[in-house]
Order: sequence, then structure tokens, then C-alpha cells
Amino acid sequence: MDEKSFTEWSLKAAKWGADYRASLRDRPVRAQTAPGAIAAQIPAQPPRTGEDMQAIFEDFEKIILPGMTHWQHPRFFAYFPANAAPVSVVAEYLVTAMAAQCMLWQTSPAATELETKVLDWLRQAIGLPEGFSGVIQDSASSATLSAVLVMREKALGWNGNKKGLASQQQLRIYSSDQVHTSIDRAIWVSGIGEENLVRIPANGPRRAMDCQALEAAILRDKAAGLVPAGVIACTGGTSTGACDDIAEVIRVAHAHGLYVHVDAAWAGAAMICEEFRELWAGVENADSVVFNPHKWLGAQFDCSAHFIRSPDDLVKTLAIQPEYLKTHGRDGIINYSEWTIPLGRRFRALKLWFLLRFHGLEGLQTMIRNHVRWSRQLAERLAEHRDFEIVTAPMLSLFSFRHLSEGDPDAHTIALVNAINDDGRIYLTQTRVDGRVAIRFQAGQFDMTQEDAETAFEVIVEVAAALDGQHEK
Ligand code: PLP
Repeated sequence: MDEKSFTEWSLKAAKWGADYRASLRDRPVRAQTAPGAIAAQIPAQPPRTGEDMQAIFEDFEKIILPGMTHWQHPRFFAYFPANAAPVSVVAEYLVTAMAAQCMLWQTSPAATELETKVLDWLRQAIGLPEGFSGVIQDSASSATLSAVLVMREKALGWNGNKKGLASQQQLRIYSSDQVHTSIDRAIWVSGIGEENLVRIPANGPRRAMDCQALEAAILRDKAAGLVPAGVIACTGGTSTGACDDIAEVIRVAHAHGLYVHVDAAWAGAAMICEEFRELWAGVENADSVVFNPHKWLGAQFDCSAHFIRSPDDLVKTLAIQPEYLKTHGRDGIINYSEWTIPLGRRFRALKLWFLLRFHGLEGLQTMIRNHVRWSRQLAERLAEHRDFEIVTAPMLSLFSFRHLSEGDPDAHTIALVNAINDDGRIYLTQTRVDGRVAIRFQAGQFDMTQEDAETAFEVIVEVAAALDGQHEK
């Protein structure tokens, strides 16, 4: 592509992006495509000769766009958000244009030094004390895996990487049953093994880990000759927003010398508002904390902020240093690839810098407070409606509900969530609470307004009534 075409198509792509975002409210949130429909339109063989850019772009609009679920749609209430504030998209255009690989300080000093700075801004923004160092990971899953590997290495006297696990003592990791399944995967991938992830019951309105049961499990394992290695606590579990009592988890864990990782992938963003910090009171004593600015804060996907007390432990666990990666004579610099599992690194700090500067903490706080308020209002309206029940009360901006109907409640709930998503005006996901299916609602979209929450109420009530009408026929 020559310079003129590159300019022309870059401008076109940027204009397309702005028009796309402006058109989102008129599009169905979830793709309405049948499985295989997109693949059927793509030739089986790669093109032998180059094609015209106009044709490629037209196919993008004709074939690809209808098969997209619109994650930036203001009425995306499913899963958790993956917000891309427009200002962070602009930063990503620049990052994409420079296309730097930022594995070492010297492969892009600005990327490294900005990462150190903006992660320290974020640390302050969410109320973590000095003494935590930050690094950007691609995902919370990677941060959690890194933390589990550190737990493993510390518990095995730094011999896990060296000797493998076959001849080693059996390690134990503890978490409640409310944590995200990325924790399960970290335990498998680390070689510790699923059977050594000890599930501690969760209870109370916050579905918090029972810390007496945690301590009892640690003591039982020690007595049996097993080696407790760490605890993974959560603030804002995926299903219903479960929050462990972080201070108490840490008190128990540290009394036994265990490493504590806190997964706040979604809820961590809300900690920029002081009034929500009681949800993770005690976090200042954690060893490792992760939250995803790409979820609720607005940093274009992907961007996961990982804060650790001891980066040395991470480096001892993960660093690879063949000669070509050594940076001789550069004392005091950070090579962030030694803090993460992948070697190659995108320049992710720029979008955080743009985002935090453009909106300021106050702008982001207002957005999060609005989401929490609108979600609570919607839960109240559904609770007042005789055909609905609230299953789990709002935790920040997440709650779950059910429509009361004749027949099998689980089948009805699944049918309702499918009907709502087929309708297209909003997008929701189901979860399982105490063994029964419920519908989750979370408010978190960057461009959402109060009207969008009102539309959600109308759609839920209308589609549920229509579904009941169909049953009666
Ligand atoms: N932890 C929690 C609480 C989550 O909700 C999620 C995903 O939604 C994850 C971890 C995994 O996040 P990631 O996709 O960044 O690996």
C-alpha cells in the first residue's frame, strides 16, 4: 500500500469508526447470525493475487459487520463490559501505526516509562498504598496465572521451574466457589492440579469465603503433610459480584505464610470511588491484585492492571534472559517482559494515559456512580413488579433476577434470556445461583444513559409478557 492509499484508507477507517459508534443504538446488540453463515461467505482458498482495497472494505461491511456483537453498544448489559472509550481508541490508532514491540526498556523506552507512571496513577486512583508496583498484563487470566506460579515457586523453595512437580510435595491453593474459572485454569496450567484447588464455602449476602473454614482447611492440609501455597480471593465475582472479606482472608493466610492474590477484574474499576472501597477493605496487605481497566474503566481491550508487592518474586518466577534479551550496562531499568508470561508486549500504556488525562478521575467516577445508581433503580422497578423476583441484590452495578412463570423455572429463564437477546434491543446473560438459573444484569457501558436502563426495563417486561402469551396459546 503506497503512502497516499495508506492515508486515504486510514482516514476512511477512522471516519467509519466514528459513524459506527454513532449508529450503535440502531443495531441489534448481539449478532443475529446463524452459526456458519459468515464462514460460508469466505472463499476456501487464499487469494493468489492482491485484491482491490475498495472490494476488501465493502466485504468487511457486507460480510463481517452483520456477524459482530456490538460490545460498545450502550445497551450491552451482558457478561461484563469491554469498554473502549473513544479517546482510548484514538490512542490505539497511534499504537497500531507505530506497531512497536515493547518487550524491553530499550525496545521502546517511552512505553516502559509511561507504563510505570500510569500504573502508579492507577494505583493511587484505586487507593492502593505505595509499595505496590504495577504491570500491564493482557488479561486477568494471565495475571492470576502469574500469581499462582509465584505461589508455587515460593512454596517449593524456587524449585518448581527447575525440577518440575513430579517429585515435589503436594501444593494446595484455596478459594471460594465464587471465583472466576480463570482461577481453575491457572491451577491446571501451573501443574498444581484441580484436586489441589480447595473450595471454601461462601456465605452471607456478599457470598464471602468462610474464613473459619479456610483456616480449618489450611490446618487440616498441613496436618496431612500437604503444603498450603496461597489463597485467591475475589472482589466482584463474575456470577453475582461476590466479595470476600479481604482483610480476614489475608489475616488467616498470612498467619500461615500464604501468598494472597485478589481478583477484582471487574469491580476494581469502581475503587476509583472511595465509597466503594469498603468492598475490598484490607486489600493494602495483599501480595497481588488484578483489575481490568478494559472492563469498566474504558481502556480499549486488552488492558489488565496487575499490582504486586514484590516484583522480584515475579521476575524470579517468569524472567527469561538469553543473551539477546540482556540489556547490559542499564542498571535500574525495567524490562516488563520479565514480569509477564508472553515475551512480546503491545504498547498498552498509551490508551490509559489518554483515557485518564481526557476524562480525569472525576469523569470516570461520575460514569461509575451513574451505572451503580441506574442498576439499583432497575432492580427496584423489577422487584416492585409482581411478575419478577430479584435473585441477588445489586453488588455495585450487577444484580440477577427471574421472571415468575408456570412450568420449569430454569427452562423458562433460558427461554426468556434467549428471547430478549433475539429481540436485539438489549443483551443479557444467564448465570446459576444456588443451583438455579437466573438472569444477570450489569450496567457498565461507557455511552449508556439513564434512558437505556429504562429501555432495558421495558424490553424485559415486554418480552417476558410475550413469552407467557405464547405459552398460553
Ligand atoms: N476474573 C473475573 C472476576 C472476571 O469476571 C473475568 C472475566 O470476566 C476474569 C477474571 C477473566 O478476565 P480476562 O478475560 O481478562 O482473563
